[in-house]
Amino acid sequence: MPVPFILDILIQTKFLTKTFMKKFISISILFVLLLNGCTQQVYQKQFYVFGTLVGVSIWGVSTEEADTAVDVIIKDLQLMHHQWHAWDPSPLTDLNQAMATGKSGILTDTALLIQAQQLYTLSDGLFNPAIGQLISLWGFHKDDLSHTQALPSQKQISALVALNPRMDDIQIENNQVLSHNRAVQLDFGAFAKGYAIDRAIKTLRQLGIQNAIINAGGNLKAMGKKGDTSWVIGIRHPSGSGILGGVVLNGEESVITSGNYERFREYQGVRYSHIIDPRTGNPAKGLSSVTVIAQSGALADAASTALTIAGLKDWHRIARQMGIKYVMLVDDAGIVYVNPAMAKRVQFPAEQVPTIVVSEPL
Ligand code: AMP
Ligand code: MG
Repeated sequence: MPVPFILDILIQTKFLTKTFMKKFISISILFVLLLNGCTQQVYQKQFYVFGTLVGVSIWGVSTEEADTAVDVIIKDLQLMHHQWHAWDPSPLTDLNQAMATGKSGILTDTALLIQAQQLYTLSDGLFNPAIGQLISLWGFHKDDLSHTQALPSQKQISALVALNPRMDDIQIENNQVLSHNRAVQLDFGAFAKGYAIDRAIKTLRQLGIQNAIINAGGNLKAMGKKGDTSWVIGIRHPSGSGILGGVVLNGEESVITSGNYERFREYQGVRYSHIIDPRTGNPAKGLSSVTVIAQSGALADAASTALTIAGLKDWHRIARQMGIKYVMLVDDAGIVYVNPAMAKRVQFPAEQVPTIVVSEPL
């Protein structure tokens, strides 16, 4: 099915360093995209939030209307980023401190926590935002990751796994959050961006915008079209550069990729993924990237992380359980695995068609 295609957005640059952030200047440009022979104007703005470059494309409203709406979502994204930061001092680190001493704490947006609990259950606990201590032990609670810091010992890892932090240890009453297990430390890194882009798209809609894409460093959600033309997005190749495949989006949809190619630690020549298997306490192995398409960004984000851990043996079962309809996995050898519905949607560049294995239907 190789076809030539023109992309509106190439999903890339999941995490950027603080050094880059300092250099980065927020830019707002109106530019002309040539697509399928017709000329259309797409408003675009990029800014830095959630530790990543966020791009918004909007079609069908004036620059002034788009600017006003984008200002609203930038403020909301900044608020969410601050509220849920897992290591810089934040309302979430306050809550984690309270839970560690058996006290209750406050979370303003408990909808996030409730959804995370549901997704934890649906993923058989593979998506487990309660394992903040393990993520920190592996050295991932940092902006700039160290490649010289020694790895944790198996004794330290096993001790944390034995404490068994679970999302259903958490009890929520109004905005009060209490954990029955002091080992629970929340880290929403696997799903906050998906949740945030759901909220951003909802806000844009409320502000009268019907056609937009928001791309938070590899976590993307779109709605509407550009006139008669659908949005087309490119999924980055896990080898580091170029496009693995393109997807034409249908109305409101989210495309989320979890990968081990941008945020990882390398120690003595071995790469360790930032996605931790809660059952063993060790980084997930075997897959370079997992892409999920779903209407909900939060669901697609949690699922992309959970399926990375489920691996080639178990991804089908977990995807089904989570209600996911479109999955693409790339293993460390570059082989692409897709379910039949996803196979129909991904278009691979003619010059670089990978080996593709199509699974049973989901
Ligand atoms: P993602 O790129 O969406 O797969 O998210 C990866 C991030 O989620 C990591 O950097 C950690 O902060 C966090 N994380 C790692 N392992 C898990 C897990 N098993 N469940 C939930 N969150 C995780
Ligand atoms: Mg995720």
